[in-house]
This record gives sequence, structure tokens and C-alpha cells, in this order.
Amino acid sequence: MTFAIHGLAVAPGIAIGRAVIAVNSRMEVVHYFIEPTQVHDEIKRVRRARDTVVEELKRMQEDLPADAPHELAALLDVHLMLLQDELLENGVKRWISDRLYNAEWALTTQLELITRQFDEMEDEYLRERKADLEQVAERILRYMRGVASPVAPPPASPRRAQPTLTGLGEEFAEDPLVLVANDLSPADMLQFKSSVFAGFITDVGGKTSHTAIVARSMDIPAVVGARSASQLVRQDDWVVIDGDAGVVIVNPSPIILEEYGFRRRQVSLERERLSRLRHTPAVTLDGQSIELLANIERPSDCEAALRGGAAGVGLFRTEFLFMGRAGIMPDEDEQYQSYREALEGMKGAPVTIRTIDIGADKPLDKGQRENSVLNPALGLRAIRWSLADAVMFRAQLRAILRAAVHGPVHLLFPMLSGVGEIRQTLAQLDIARSELDTRGVPYGELKIGAMIEVPAAALMVRSFLKYFDYLSIGTNDLVQYTLAIDRADEAVAHLYDPMHPAVLRLIADVIAAANEAGKGVSVCGEMAGDVAMTKLLLGFGLRSFSMHPAQILAVKQEILRADAGRLTEWARTVLDSDEPEAICSGG
Ligand code: PEP
Ligand code: MG
Repeated sequence: MTFAIHGLAVAPGIAIGRAVIAVNSRMEVVHYFIEPTQVHDEIKRVRRARDTVVEELKRMQEDLPADAPHELAALLDVHLMLLQDELLENGVKRWISDRLYNAEWALTTQLELITRQFDEMEDEYLRERKADLEQVAERILRYMRGVASPVAPPPASPRRAQPTLTGLGEEFAEDPLVLVANDLSPADMLQFKSSVFAGFITDVGGKTSHTAIVARSMDIPAVVGARSASQLVRQDDWVVIDGDAGVVIVNPSPIILEEYGFRRRQVSLERERLSRLRHTPAVTLDGQSIELLANIERPSDCEAALRGGAAGVGLFRTEFLFMGRAGIMPDEDEQYQSYREALEGMKGAPVTIRTIDIGADKPLDKGQRENSVLNPALGLRAIRWSLADAVMFRAQLRAILRAAVHGPVHLLFPMLSGVGEIRQTLAQLDIARSELDTRGVPYGELKIGAMIEVPAAALMVRSFLKYFDYLSIGTNDLVQYTLAIDRADEAVAHLYDPMHPAVLRLIADVIAAANEAGKGVSVCGEMAGDVAMTKLLLGFGLRSFSMHPAQILAVKQEILRADAGRLTEWARTVLDSDEPEAICSGG
């Protein structure tokens, strides 16, 4: 049966493929592809964990006191039976060997398949055994966490064979795959960056959640906030992701498929047309030169940045170097190598390296989410996190200072909110320099900048300008904190409004203040890559935009058609309005 699920459009384009269900919301597990050579060990990992659980349950059974309730013994029997069930074991083995899923992913995928069969059972008693099965799987997963698993999963290179999978009753074909998940952490998304997925769907998340941002950086269609998609879509269902409309169509009819196939071809023709602008300088009709920079998550993204025609990196989100490593942080040397790689990758163009922005919807590891505090976005995040662990912070600063020997580095601090914090931050930078002096290690000159992403910072922009060489406006957070809307919460996504007059006035004021002071100012939030905002930002006086490499050419096209001088007057009327959106859509 064909049906549609509505969510939020986060990465444009059309993807058509078979669903891979990645996450069971009750059990957060890591998902990655293994190499074919690891299949044997991965199967062994599940088996060892399973055997340990069996032994544990048998011991419990033996130790049961004679007066224990009869139900308890019966429950242990059921759990032991489920644990040793062939459907579970064989299914898991096949997901590992045929699709190269890691052990945890294979187990939760098979679990999902079986529990759906339980859901369809007439017999209420059997239906209720679903919860037992979930408990058993959870036990295995818990043991697996204690059994060696690679810290940094290997790059994804799935070789898709043609298995028949118990429970599916159908052969996989060499079809494109789309990932459907309850939630994906930003680190998960990064792992999938070099994978085969043609698109992503998640149940939760807002448009500027970090998971959505990484999806957009991958330049493949994605829909987030699709509520119960991971429950409604079944493993291997055909789905269409309409990344422009934020709609997912499940089991599309041939006519729908044909229509979307046509639209997909249109999108690729448009991209081809835009690619001709790659070497065209970004200059407005009235001769204003505009700087177009790239946002990256890893040094290897520099290749895409150059391909997209970026004049440099305007935001290197270094926290992605720290994520998904089971708490083992990259040390100074490892970080130095990564920053150096980015600088060399950009071939002499400047690289803006932002210090770690961890916290809120960017946990270091998944476990952190479960233990998260009440208001993580208002908690120990970004620069606050760094200042709370000065040793770690200075290791990062030293690594950046050392890398600056290899190319122009613009150091950037996230989420500063006042002068006290600025002073503490700059003091750490001085200490980091003197530590390198003491060690006799060479380091380079830096430009030093602050992100403006808290209303307090925007309101104090003139004070900020006394301390910094340049500013970068993080509109994703500036919108979140100005409007008190959690950017990662799909329940309030409709209220997340980058065109809110309060937001626009803060942005315009920061740009004007930096321009007056003769200092650089850029926007590096998602707004910079949104073609609907290009003219307004030009009208506010912005001359530097940083975005995902895939968005650069479309923004350049807008710039080539704009007359910056004339836009100034128009932008003023937008700013004076209580309903800027109405003027923008009319103007
Ligand atoms: C922002 O807040 O706009 C920004 C660029 O930083 P991040 O999205 O990484 O929080
Ligand atoms: Mg931010």
C-alpha cells in the first residue's frame, strides 16, 4: 500500500531506494559497515555475547530459591529459548555476512524483523513475548559493549551480495538504499558520509539540528522529524524521499515512481547547469566581490570545498574529530595532523578552525545523551565546555597554533557570551603559546575571531570587536537562543523562524558594527547557504558567506543576479517591518 509521511525538508533532491531501518529507539547502538575480512570476528562477537547471556540465565535458573514464583522460572525458560532461537542467530549472521553490518546493527535489525512478526500474531500470549525478546537482545547488546569493538569504524564500503534472509522471504537486489532511523547522532551521520546511502529519513530532529546539517553537507536528500517513519516503514520497502517538500512516499505506485524519476533527472540537469559557474568570480552586478567559503567537518571535506569553488574554509567544525571515539580524545599531535591536512588540502586558502563545540545535540558519544542534563543547549556547551577543561582546551589550541605554520589559520571561538569569557579564552591562548615556547616548538600567526550565536554577544558586538580580528555569525544558534526554540526539536520546528524581526535586527546590527569597525564578518549558519536569504544578507552589507560546499554555486548564482547597492535600501524596509517575510516574498 502506498502512503506518505510528512517531515521537515533538510537536504534537497529526490532519492529513490529500498529502506534500511537503522535504529530501534529503545536501544541506541552504533551502525557502521565492516570490511569483508571482519565478518568472521563480528559473528564471533555476537556469539560470545549471546553465550555469556545464556550462561548467566542458566546460573540464575540454578540459583532460583525453591519458593521463587513459578512465573520467574517460566520467564527464564522463555528467555533462554529465545536466545537460542535459530531465527535470531541465522538472521544476525546473514545481516553481518551479506550486508556487512556491524554486530550491533545486525542484531537490532533482525530483532526488528522478528518483533514485527510478533506484532502480527493473533495469540496475545505470543504477542507479549515481544518484550521478552527485546530484553534478551538488550542483554546481548550490553555484553557486546564489553567485547572489543573497533573505536573508529572502518570506512563504509559495503559489498552487497544477494542473500535470502530468514523472515524477509525476498532477495535483496543491487538497489539504492535509503536509511530510515529513529534518530541518528551527528557522529553516526559522519560515519555514513562515505557510505552508499542515497538518502536519509529520521523520526526526530529539527532543520538545523546537527544531524540535519551533516545530512545536508553530504548533499543527498534527507527528511527529518518524520515522526514514526522508522516504525511505519519496513525493512526493504521502496521509498521515495522528496527532500524539497520534506515528504517520504512509501511503496510508491509505478506512476508516482515515474514522476519522481523525472524530477530526479531535472535536479541533476539543474546541477549540471550550475556547475558551469564554478570558475565564475562571485561578483554582484554593481561590482561587489563576495567571498564564498565552505563549512567542513573533516579534513577530507576540503576536496569537496575546492570542487565547489570555495575561496577557503569558513567553518571547520572540529568537534567531529572528537566524536564517536568511546571517550578517547585525539591528542595534540593527532589534532595537529588533522588541521595541517585541512590546510594542505585547501592549497594555501585560509581555513577557519573553530574550537570544539561539544554538548547539546552534539554529544561526544551517544551515552552522553541518556545522561544529559535538563537543558543541554543552555548547559556546558562549546566554549564553556572548553574552559571547564583547560588542559584539553590548550591541547587543541597548541595543535591549531602549530598547524598555522602550514597555512593561513583563522581561529574561531564558539558561543562566547561576554567579556569575562573572552578574557579567559584569550588567556588560555596566551598560555598555549608560552607552553609551545617552553617546548621550543614552532607555531604560526593566527587571526582570532568570535562566533556571534548568543543574543548577548550580538547586543555587545562593539565590545567583542575590541578583542577580535573578525566575527562569524552562527545563525543556527542565534535563532535558537533568540527565539527560545530548540533547534533539534521537531515539535517546535514550525516556530524556528530565521526571518523573525528580532533575529534579523541582531544579524543586521552585527554586520553593520563589524563593517564600521573595518573588521571581517561572515555568516556561517545554515542561513548563508539558503538562496532565499542571499539578497537580504547582501542588503545588510554582508560580503562573506560560509556554507556546505554543495550550496556554493546556487548562492553564487543569486549573487551574480544581485545589485548590492540597490538591495541596501530594500533591506532597510525589511528590517523596519514587523512582518519581514511578507516583504521578502513580495520583493
Ligand atoms: C551556528 O550555530 O550557526 C553554527 C554555525 O554553529 P553550529 O551549527 O555548529 O552550532
Ligand atoms: Mg552554533
